[in-house]
Amino acid sequence: WDMFVLAFVERLFRPTYKKDDFVLGKKLGEGAFGVVYRVSSAKKPNSKEGDLVLKRATEYGAVEIWMNERVRRACANSCADFVYGFLEKSSKKGAEYWLIWRFEGESTLADLIQSKEFPYNVESMILGEVQDLPKGLERENRIIQTVLRQLLFALDGLHSTGIVHRDIKPQNVIFSEGSRTFKIIDLGAAADLRVGINYIPKEFLLDPRYAAPEQYIMSTQTPSAPSAPVAAALSPVLWQLNLPDRFDIYSTGLILLQMAFPSFRSDSGLIQFNRQLKRCDYDLVAWRKSVEPRANSDLRRGFELLDLDGGIGWELLTSMVRYKARQRVSAKAALAHPYFDKEGLLALSIMQ
Ligand code: ADP
Ligand code: MG
Repeated sequence: WDMFVLAFVERLFRPTYKKDDFVLGKKLGEGAFGVVYRVSSAKKPNSKEGDLVLKRATEYGAVEIWMNERVRRACANSCADFVYGFLEKSSKKGAEYWLIWRFEGESTLADLIQSKEFPYNVESMILGEVQDLPKGLERENRIIQTVLRQLLFALDGLHSTGIVHRDIKPQNVIFSEGSRTFKIIDLGAAADLRVGINYIPKEFLLDPRYAAPEQYIMSTQTPSAPSAPVAAALSPVLWQLNLPDRFDIYSTGLILLQMAFPSFRSDSGLIQFNRQLKRCDYDLVAWRKSVEPRANSDLRRGFELLDLDGGIGWELLTSMVRYKARQRVSAKAALAHPYFDKEGLLALSIMQ
């Protein structure tokens, strides 16, 4: 009850918005379930131009609002700062859900890894200064470690809350210029297993480039969505049995792979990797054996990076990208992996 009253009071004092309160700016994205714009608040004359983001979503917007409200209360730092969500009935296309966030920054991890400068472009963003150090594998590894640690930290927040994201990919990881950290966005495909919200909607198309081999996050033996109160009682058990969070871990492993190997950063490169891995029955060690003998210098350099410090990077990658969900590490366990023992970028800047 305390929680309920608190949530209600918080809701009461939070600013509420309606359609006319926003001035539309640049279009940032367009997916199957909505359009995203940068917007300004018409209410606040001295607000910065385009300091908010608006998603005009279809019927799935209701779930996305619910997820964002929950994240804001339970693990606020994991995701982009959510401001408000409402049903807008007056639009020409019929009812739409409008979702508002703070504008976190210009670049997603997808933009950043596409740059020839990666990972050095990220280093200066995180540290706020340019490092006067020689470029090389050690330094690149530290930067990649830092990005991965921030991503796993955000993911651990979501998973500890009972939310599986299901669409983890560089396009859905934003660099927050305010906190100088990476945050997760786009909870449009997320599932909250503790209360049975958005429980395996079979019509959902998962992004095939980043999806783990299991098609649905719960095993097919779990027949259908239980009603909410039953799910609330059962889902911790189901969570233990099926480890749905490991779906996100597989996708995160692919992001580590893309950061380590420039040749897999493009769509076609990643698709090619997926094809190769499938041919090796999703056995990353077998994949390495098959490609390493005829590897080009790009590929060799990626292996070299992951082999630093006794191969702990490679060890972590192979514990994330595994066929069987239950053999993949959790986000929490990954954060405790020796790969992160040296404090990443912080150590790098103190070292000199
Ligand atoms: P979808 O993928 O369904 O179109 P997203 O929620 O992923 O919608 O948003 C689309 C794009 O809009 C993102 O890839 C990102 O570039 C941008 N974006 C979304 N939320 C924010 C935010 N809070 N701050 C800055 N940019 C954002
Ligand atoms: Mg997206």
